[in-house]
Amino acid sequence: SDIGSQKDRVVTEEEWLQKWEMGNIGFHKEQRHPLLQKHLDVLLNGRSGLRIFFPLCGKAVEMKWLADMGHNVVGVEVSEQALKEFFSEHSLPYCEEPVPEISGGKMFQSTSGNISLYCCSIYDLSSSIVGKFDGVWDRGALVAVNPSDRQRYASLMINLMEKNSSYLLVTVSYDPNKHKGPPFYVPESEIKSLFG
Ligand code: SAH
Repeated sequence: SDIGSQKDRVVTEEEWLQKWEMGNIGFHKEQRHPLLQKHLDVLLNGRSGLRIFFPLCGKAVEMKWLADMGHNVVGVEVSEQALKEFFSEHSLPYCEEPVPEISGGKMFQSTSGNISLYCCSIYDLSSSIVGKFDGVWDRGALVAVNPSDRQRYASLMINLMEKNSSYLLVTVSYDPNKHKGPPFYVPESEIKSLFG
């Protein structure tokens, strides 16, 4: 599990925006993730009306699915295009408002009020802005974060979680010397040390 070849790799926000502009979004899936369907009970733990966080959300279709179940969904994404595509592809009316605490930050909220998507860097968020969450769906998020930012990312996520919360994390396993990522290879030992 030598991750030496990936640890210094940096993908800038500009590069992510370009991927969206070019339609280079192979990570986006039209179908709900099978692992979310399989482990939904772990996320919900018998509870209803949860606040569920989607870090680095893109236009993940599961946001609509969980909102339709009666949960409150909050996402964060640097690409405004991704967020607008999410609402238009699901024919959801939304409004847009500035986030005073974040310079240049915007929030796109479904008119029904149960989907709130922040357009900013995840590192601009804090629990005083978005509150805390009962559940997290982390797919294409920890593995998309630059390796040098992982510690900061994990500390922030821990800070955004309620005491009794569940965190579903999807990672990918492969030889990091054969692909440069993202998605990056995050060894299980590192996940344990990041999240405890
Ligand atoms: N979770 C989504 C998208 C995964 S790709 C899915 O499952 O489909 C990673 C996404 O994170 C991209 O859409 C990229 O634009 C966004 N992103 C990258 N760095 C970010 C950051 N610092 N803050 C917020 N979003 C970011």
